[in-house]
Amino acid sequence: MILNIACIGGDGIGPEIMAEAKKVLDKVAATYGHEMKYTDVLMGGASIDVHGIPLTDETIDICKASDAVLMASIGGNTSTSPWYKLEPSKRPEAGLLKLRKSLNLFANLRPAVLYPQLRGACPLKEEISAAGFDMMIMRELTGGLYFGERQTVEVDGELKATDTLTYSESEIRRIAIKGFEIAKVRRKKVTSVDKANVLDSSRLWRKVVEEVAKDYPEVTLEHMLVDNCAMQLVKDPAQFDVILTENMFGDILSDEASMVTGSIGMLASASMNDTKFGLYEPSHGSAPDIAGMNIANPLATILSAAMMLKYSFDLHKEAAAIEAAIDQVLTENYRTVDIMSDGMEKVSCSGMGDLVAERIK
Ligand code: NAD
Repeated sequence: MILNIACIGGDGIGPEIMAEAKKVLDKVAATYGHEMKYTDVLMGGASIDVHGIPLTDETIDICKASDAVLMASIGGNTSTSPWYKLEPSKRPEAGLLKLRKSLNLFANLRPAVLYPQLRGACPLKEEISAAGFDMMIMRELTGGLYFGERQTVEVDGELKATDTLTYSESEIRRIAIKGFEIAKVRRKKVTSVDKANVLDSSRLWRKVVEEVAKDYPEVTLEHMLVDNCAMQLVKDPAQFDVILTENMFGDILSDEASMVTGSIGMLASASMNDTKFGLYEPSHGSAPDIAGMNIANPLATILSAAMMLKYSFDLHKEAAAIEAAIDQVLTENYRTVDIMSDGMEKVSCSGMGDLVAERIK
């Protein structure tokens, strides 16, 4: 198979971790008989330096013409970098927001996995972390409270602010379909999270999700109120497979789930549209404090590449080979500095990439 991938190395540690992701993808290609065709494009600060803007039409066009986009990270030190003296629409992050919009990426996938080898980093009690967890938070990304009408007006001498939470059936249906499709290739359980005891938008959410569920008899559906879900994530995270939820609830719950893994350098993510197309990136930022030192953890980006193989190319065996290689490297006690603990062997960013690539079978 030929895989056309637009690659955004970006800023800070971005180019270093992207190089390691490509190294692993190349090994997958050689092992399984595929061809990786990378097109490197500029975005964020790197694009500002060359073009004066964080995202050009050319970058958008190349991304659209590709099968998937793999991104490392963008942005600089927000206090000292000259990029942050520009007006907000010209700053690095504006490029990412515009790209997501241009590609119509409405579904955000954030896996939260507790690797048994990294259990020590989990802030939960040992009896809870011992069960491990492997969940996917599926967040609607383009609707809800963050995109509804808003205003602040003065009424009777005091300010009054209003935000509007709106969802249409079609917006809910398309993310629900994505959620069930993802659950189908995982452990076949969807927990739909809402606040249906209070909100109309949540009652519509629940109704549409139940309609979609009828097309997926092999997937178990349960509903959970968002406040309960926030508690369950720290009480019994092992119960979750796919958590399907709207924009703001997903924003908060996905950060909570990330935190309970305890390892920022291990967290992948994806944003998808209603085709197989997606943008894959680590959840962490560009870590300008360690840029250029060859010490960053490339595993979140490598895991994002594995998600890309799985969800954009249906290459499940190949994605599993990357996940197994990472598992093996961790079992053999190799660690980058961010996940280092006593008795482990410290390796560099490129060293970690080599170790994973060597173990692809
Ligand atoms: P950050 O995630 O870049 O870094 C937070 C801390 O985690 C730092 O100490 C950093 O060294 C460490 N860290 C992060 N990733 C690591 C890795 N792979 N290996 C080892 N250590 C790692 O967050 P920040 O410092 O708040 O933001 C820095 C820049 O990144 C800002 O410009 C921010 O806007 C941007 N950012 C970009 C994205 C993105 O590209 N999607 C996401 C978040 C932040």
